Amino acid sequence: MKKMDIKGIGMTSQRTRDRLIDRLQQKGIANSEVLRVMRLVPRHLFVDEALASRSYEDSALPIGHGQTISQPYIVARMTELLLENAGNENNTIEKVLEVGTGSGYQAAVLGGLVKELHTVETIGALYRHSRDILYKLGYRNVRTHLGDGSWGWPEAAPYEAIMVTAAAEEIPPALIQQLKIGGAMIIPVGQKQNEQKLQQVIRTTELQYKVTELEKVIFVPLVPES
Ligand code: SAM
Repeated sequence: MKKMDIKGIGMTSQRTRDRLIDRLQQKGIANSEVLRVMRLVPRHLFVDEALASRSYEDSALPIGHGQTISQPYIVARMTELLLENAGNENNTIEKVLEVGTGSGYQAAVLGGLVKELHTVETIGALYRHSRDILYKLGYRNVRTHLGDGSWGWPEAAPYEAIMVTAAAEEIPPALIQQLKIGGAMIIPVGQKQNEQKLQQVIRTTELQYKVTELEKVIFVPLVPES
């Protein structure tokens, strides 16, 4: 569903948003659908009001609870990789799982591109906040869930694509299990923050998958529920 009901909300920031999109293009983001959707999503509504003036800088920002909203370049890059690897000829994906809803911004970007998105967050306050903003903005194709996303969200599996937005020490096996054969996952992996790399995982058969290491990244850790 590509509906975006954001008329009148944050449109005053369109010019700053356009400048951010120019910067993303200069940094190599080429997927026109990703750029189109990111031009529309009002990132300033996903950060604290006190930080709204910095919301179209290409940087990660704090969202409370020791967590961050990801850098726009990383959001664009991970989304582009998912579409390249799991998208159909119309540049869309049927069903996607996101682990680590955080502010809900990445979910909004994905929500503008895919038919059905399930997103899981482990911190109750962030889950409720992102659920409310995504609802207010009209994303009826985004289902928010509270829980430990390292177990995925089996109720809605399998998924054509999975995006993990917190760094895992290793790829959680449950996520591979919930990926369709031929499906793709993008996940930051690394034991220490300065050793993290994006990994692209393609499930090739029932029992096999192919991993490709991509660029270095810095993410907060994927924390299993205690
Ligand atoms: N995608 C987010 C956005 O657009 O704002 C950014 C995510 S932030 C870098 C990582 C998020 O993953 C945090 O909100 C954190 O609470 C969440 N997280 C960490 N461990 C998790 C787990 N086991 N299951 C679900 N969410 C988790």
